[in-house]
Amino acid sequence: MTKYIFVTGGVTSSLGKGIIAASLAKLLQARGYKVTIQKFDPYINIDPGTLNPYEHGECYVTEDGAETDLDLGHYERFLNVPTSQANNVTTGRIYQHVIQQEREGAYLGKTVQVIPHITDEIKRRMQLLGESGEYDIIITELGGTVGDIESLPFVEAVRQLRWELGANNSLVIHLTLVPYLAAAGELKTKPTQHSVKTLLEYGVQPDILVCRTEHKLSQEIRKKLAQFCNVNINAVVESIDASTIYDVPLLMLKENLDKTALTKLKLSNKNEPDLENWKNFLGKLKNPTSEVCIALVGKYVELPDAYKSITEGFIHAGATNECKVKVSYIAAESVTKENVAEKLKGMDGVLVAPGFGERGLDGKLNAIQYVRENNIPFFGICLGMQCSVIEFGRNVLGLKDANSFEMDADTSNPVINLMEEQKNITNMGGTMRLGAYDCEIKKGTKAFAIYGKTKISERHRHRYEFNNDYLKQYEAAGMIASGFNPETGLVEIVELKNHPFFVAGQFHPELKSTVANPHPLFVSFVAAALANKKSK
Ligand code: GLN
Repeated sequence: MTKYIFVTGGVTSSLGKGIIAASLAKLLQARGYKVTIQKFDPYINIDPGTLNPYEHGECYVTEDGAETDLDLGHYERFLNVPTSQANNVTTGRIYQHVIQQEREGAYLGKTVQVIPHITDEIKRRMQLLGESGEYDIIITELGGTVGDIESLPFVEAVRQLRWELGANNSLVIHLTLVPYLAAAGELKTKPTQHSVKTLLEYGVQPDILVCRTEHKLSQEIRKKLAQFCNVNINAVVESIDASTIYDVPLLMLKENLDKTALTKLKLSNKNEPDLENWKNFLGKLKNPTSEVCIALVGKYVELPDAYKSITEGFIHAGATNECKVKVSYIAAESVTKENVAEKLKGMDGVLVAPGFGERGLDGKLNAIQYVRENNIPFFGICLGMQCSVIEFGRNVLGLKDANSFEMDADTSNPVINLMEEQKNITNMGGTMRLGAYDCEIKKGTKAFAIYGKTKISERHRHRYEFNNDYLKQYEAAGMIASGFNPETGLVEIVELKNHPFFVAGQFHPELKSTVANPHPLFVSFVAAALANKKSK
């Protein structure tokens, strides 16, 4: 029987529920359990695909093409197991389904209400992944903070589900903040007490408290938290600020979070967790023998969460190369022809990021021209790849108005064009080219040297594509297409022949980089940046 762990958050948002959920999952997986994590978000958007990255950070895309919360990226990076559409559910999706059922007459004339219809649908979705029998344990992270109006139906669904599942088949972990008041020189437990009280009002008693803190929890504080929140003292878990999120599984292991959870679920904790590979990775991450500076040129640079998976991809690739990767976020809009050399000074490699819309386009083109002409390693992702095609068209092929149809629908040289199947789309949500597609790599290219094989699969999220009418012209001038979609012929990777490292993909390799499998494009790009630095 599948067991369920629910993770709720109290006191404030941004405590890192996703990392705690992923860390616990990692420990359980390392003990031999089959685990998955799902996230339930209380907002009304059907998915985060239509959200500006400034709202919730990057939109993560799964193999099956779901546009999801960025926490799913952490789940995959920690567990190295793909997630799917079913792993991320929003209030919007719940209501959409219930309202559609109502229109179809499925409720047989009944009044459709939050209780029981919305909560029933939440419970159904919470157990969907469990139906396959594929998992021993399903961890469900509830977005938002306990006490928020919009979280209520989810907490009520958890209450009902716990009752239905019966004793020892579920547990609730409440993540809370234990703030330190410098003036008083004390850690304070009151916010946690209040937040647990709120949960109790809804009929949910947490089994385990994970306490975010900047200072160690004394025995006395632990006792106080246990006593006033009705939990066992060994169920008070300290989660102290860590230097890297990848330390958190080991910190949770020290605090016995996994053991306590397994005991409560009446599951064996005899197998010691096998964390050998994880520790190897951490060892390399923390003991770099060199350092490189990478510029990330993009338009959402004020909020690094907008590029979460790229940042993590560099951490994985850095560890593989035993090299510290220092990423500088550069606002594309600020890069001009005049200042580009100054802006990119000291950079060993440049990445041009994914994105939408015209803002910052010229800055990206200036950066690409500079690295192309100065033999600085370049890595383009999605819009970054499209920009490299525009730049080459304008400055090498002499197509002065070369552009993407997205930026200029009237250009006489749409080197990046709207995809055929996108032409009649009016609905913006969930209609891009999304999810995993096969790609065939040409032998003898840099892409082939990087991947070491001809058949790969990568995840996509875009509406525009390389315009194949221009392919011959580009290839004759030295920008070649090294990866294609085998069914449609769409160009998926471009690279420059006469350049130490100039590779750009229409897909998002960052979405597939994990601790266990750092992405080869990131690994090779960091290696190229390192080689560039050494040659200086
Ligand atoms: N805006 C571009 C497109 O839709 C690129 C998207 C992206 O970078 N993810 O094709």
